[in-house]
Amino acid sequence: MSLIQHLINGELVNDSGRSADVYNPSTGHVIHQVPLASRETIQQAIDAAKAAFPAWRNTPAAKRAQVMFRFKQLLEQNEARISQLISEEHGKTLEDAAGELKRGIENVEYACSAPEILKGEYSRNVGPNIDAWSDFQPLGVVAGITPFNFPAMVPLWMYPLAIVCGNCFILKPSERDPSSTLLIAQLLQEAGLPKGVLSVVHGDKGAVDALIEAPEVKALSFVGSTPIAEYIYSEATKRGKRVQALGGAKNHAVLMPDADLDNAVSALMGAAYGSCGERCMAISVAVCVGDQVADALIAKLVPQVKALKIGAGTSCGLDMGPLVTGQARDKVSGYIEDGVSAGAKLVVDGRGLSVAGHEEGFFLGGSLFDRVTPEMRIYKEEIFGPVLCVVRVNSLEAAMQLINDHEYGNGTCIFTRDGEAARLFCDEIEVGMVGVNVPLPVPVAYHSFGGWKRSLFGDLHAYGPDGVRFYTRRKAITQRWPQRASHEASQFAFPSL
Ligand code: NAD
Repeated sequence: MSLIQHLINGELVNDSGRSADVYNPSTGHVIHQVPLASRETIQQAIDAAKAAFPAWRNTPAAKRAQVMFRFKQLLEQNEARISQLISEEHGKTLEDAAGELKRGIENVEYACSAPEILKGEYSRNVGPNIDAWSDFQPLGVVAGITPFNFPAMVPLWMYPLAIVCGNCFILKPSERDPSSTLLIAQLLQEAGLPKGVLSVVHGDKGAVDALIEAPEVKALSFVGSTPIAEYIYSEATKRGKRVQALGGAKNHAVLMPDADLDNAVSALMGAAYGSCGERCMAISVAVCVGDQVADALIAKLVPQVKALKIGAGTSCGLDMGPLVTGQARDKVSGYIEDGVSAGAKLVVDGRGLSVAGHEEGFFLGGSLFDRVTPEMRIYKEEIFGPVLCVVRVNSLEAAMQLINDHEYGNGTCIFTRDGEAARLFCDEIEVGMVGVNVPLPVPVAYHSFGGWKRSLFGDLHAYGPDGVRFYTRRKAITQRWPQRASHEASQFAFPSL
């Protein structure tokens, strides 16, 4: 069993303090120990970032982007190795891991456009001999805290953009599956990033609190569950930091009576059960408009849910791997029990699944509930597992009311052939990311990602144009070069044209 290291100031460093177990969820065995950084370790990373900042902020944006071009190449060359590490520690299938990496690389590609996106704005002759421009300047030392479910993609939402904008970045990845995140950061180092510009420190609450409390850290990006997002947002904004904190979700798919049901069913299967439902954009509720749609949907889903191919994530051709930990599996099983007690109809029960040769793995089969109602815990709370709940309503308006009343507002979608219904849905639904016949409407890297309501704390979404705004501050410069021949008298009134 190996001890994972921190990456600080360009070097892999050991930590002699506390550590935690990292599992292979397919076998149920501990495969690594990950250090949990102390305040001193966090301070080392902060000191390295602070020291690297003056030179990095003055490095031309085009040179910073060149590092990202090399980084993209290295990520592509190492796709198989990275996917293997993701799958070994997270449990998702290799194909799913490769997909997450590709979506992460999109963000590196966007970061390659730094010279274009940082051009600023210029106005000549805003007054007599006066020119004005707005500059986008880096914040300094910024940090990111990321969840277990996308160990490659979510960190890549953050630091490529923060770094090309001229900041130095400290990443605190999830302690549950840190190896792929660390390898990716090492590849950025290999691409030519100066030491100290990116550090990776592993840890838990202690490490996060040290980042929140450090005055040198000017901004925090967080992605994870809502209670922690809210905690980080309130504690860090209290200390004057800029914060974007993305939280949990309960994503509804609305099925209209005119939907292409076969296409909707295959879309739902992937969106509800892919990655074992451990995605913040996973569809966990199907809202059927009318009993006919609901009955037809259940009839088509049942055989497919029962036929899901489940096994060790690193095997080929599977639909689903295990959940990330035994604790996560037990929590999801608890929700299933709760749904049954509350009176929902459990049409497919995924509990008790044993995978031959992997009897100690953290597996659950797909579960499907019908006749779920809004007061049930399985409807209100994020289950974060392979469980789809079907809710029946009588109209599109009732479906939209249900979604708008929910505390989360990350993603949603509608399956329909009716343009008028789709347009109304897009206009009036109180959710940050909306799909029309698209089950997982995760925006591409040149748009920004973020939910509404208790799915995001802060004003700016992640990556894309909002990411650039988040990792820069605007400076407005007004400049005059008086002409030698003329002398201007003092002006005591407020300057205007
Ligand atoms: P989590 O909130 O448990 O952990 C996220 C990060 O916070 C980790 O780095 C963890 O070490 C740290 N952390 C945990 N407890 C902490 C505490 N008490 N104080 C300070 N830091 C703490 O989330 P997770 O289980 O790793 O990830 C799953 C959650 O993330 C789900 O709720 C999912 O919806 C959400 N998520 C949201 C998005 C989004 O874009 N909105 C994307 C991915 C995941």
